[in-house]
Amino acid sequence: MAIYIDEPKCIGCEACIPACPYAAIDMVDGIAKFNENCTGCGACAYACPTGAIVLEMARKGEVDTSEYSGLWVVGEITPEGKLHGVTTELLGEGRKLAAELDTTVSVVLIGHHIGELAKTAAGYGADRVFVVDHPTLERYRTQPYTNVLTGLINKHKPEIVLIGATPMGRDLASRVAARIKAGLTADCTELTINPETKLLEQTRPAFGGNVMATILCEFTRPQMATVRPKVMAPQPFDQSHEAEIIDIPVDIDERAIATKIIEIIKDDSGSDVNLTEADIIVSGGRGLGGPEHFALIRELAETLGAAVGASRATVDAGWIPATHQVGQTGKTVHPKLYVACGISGAVQHLAGMSSSDCIVAINKDPDAPIFNVAHYGIVGDLFEVVPAMIAAFKERRGD
Ligand SMILES: Cc1cc2nc3c(=O)[nH]c(=O)nc-3n(C[C@H](O)[C@H](O)[C@H](O)COP(=O)(O)OP(=O)(O)OC[C@H]3O[C@@H](n4cnc5c(N)ncnc54)[C@H](O)[C@@H]3O)c2cc1C
Repeated sequence: MAIYIDEPKCIGCEACIPACPYAAIDMVDGIAKFNENCTGCGACAYACPTGAIVLEMARKGEVDTSEYSGLWVVGEITPEGKLHGVTTELLGEGRKLAAELDTTVSVVLIGHHIGELAKTAAGYGADRVFVVDHPTLERYRTQPYTNVLTGLINKHKPEIVLIGATPMGRDLASRVAARIKAGLTADCTELTINPETKLLEQTRPAFGGNVMATILCEFTRPQMATVRPKVMAPQPFDQSHEAEIIDIPVDIDERAIATKIIEIIKDDSGSDVNLTEADIIVSGGRGLGGPEHFALIRELAETLGAAVGASRATVDAGWIPATHQVGQTGKTVHPKLYVACGISGAVQHLAGMSSSDCIVAINKDPDAPIFNVAHYGIVGDLFEVVPAMIAAFKERRGD
């Protein structure tokens, strides 16, 4: 990708200057000129009203793939200022992939007051940490994060970029991939390196979860993938693992960002269930027969200190909010214990929970597919089994 200024078209309006996060444009005799800070991120081209800044995109076969090396993870920082679980998971997976390629793992951290997190990222496996710290980047916003990440990728040319398939990651990855004209495989469940071609094999469910598709990005770089939280495993934290920490100076003008965060309102409605973090999940399906019977699922969940999950059939029927949905179009979960009550076990549901450590299924149909993945199966009526379980657990607790 190349960027240049078509000088006769430049009207000296200076719209490009606040758009550039790297302070890489000077006005010389009323005409915009790039200085040595330019990373080629292209943010200025999108701001130029006359088309004077030209961003030339690579076409198939035009990218010199040999220029790209290293595996990058784009870090995500929680509102509490911690490293998101998916970042540690991607670092763990990244280490395995990087070993196959005999290369290094880098992580990009974008935010504000985030210096301490660099050490955490190192302990989870990063060899190199790019820290982009600026007040404007305190909370995720599409435009400045896209500009910063695109600039870094264009400058350092990583071979692989992995991003969590979280709301932030999905938004950012697609923007950046479009900007740099790279391919992007969303929602991967498996990543491997082909031993012969050394290409990243990116596997994800396709056609409603009925087939697993393995996707290659042969001609463009970096090879980009998003991965859902809880699909990969982090490696144990190693305090002695050190990383090179690289501070990236940026100069971001708030006036050039179209969106402002006015207020952050926490969802106290109780619908924001943190299924992805839960150790135990009790889920209800259509076998419950109606929304009122979710009370039984909630009672078992309360007894076990569990979160409440649901199948899509119950969400579509309006029995429970979509935030509870587990599965391909819901959340991917990896609890220690998953109790499926009145859920048949359709492939799309299994896509979100089959990697749970222990699955207990209660279903009155002995041929229900959920029993194919269950470690313990109870063939019976949930309206008899679940109350018996609640009573037994309460007795054990000494209630
Ligand atoms: C593109 C696409 C994406 C999808 N994404 C998802 C997703 O993310 N998550 C998801 O869950 N689904 C998803 N689905 C829907 C999925 O295909 C199934 O339709 C859905 O999972 C079925 O939900 P269920 O198991 O609750 O209902 P059913 O399939 O109707 O099963 C109900 C089960 O309850 C049992 N039962 C009935 N009464 C009792 C009783 N008294 N005691 C014990 N057992 C009883 C029955 O034997 C049956 O096995 C998706 C579908 C498509 C096409």
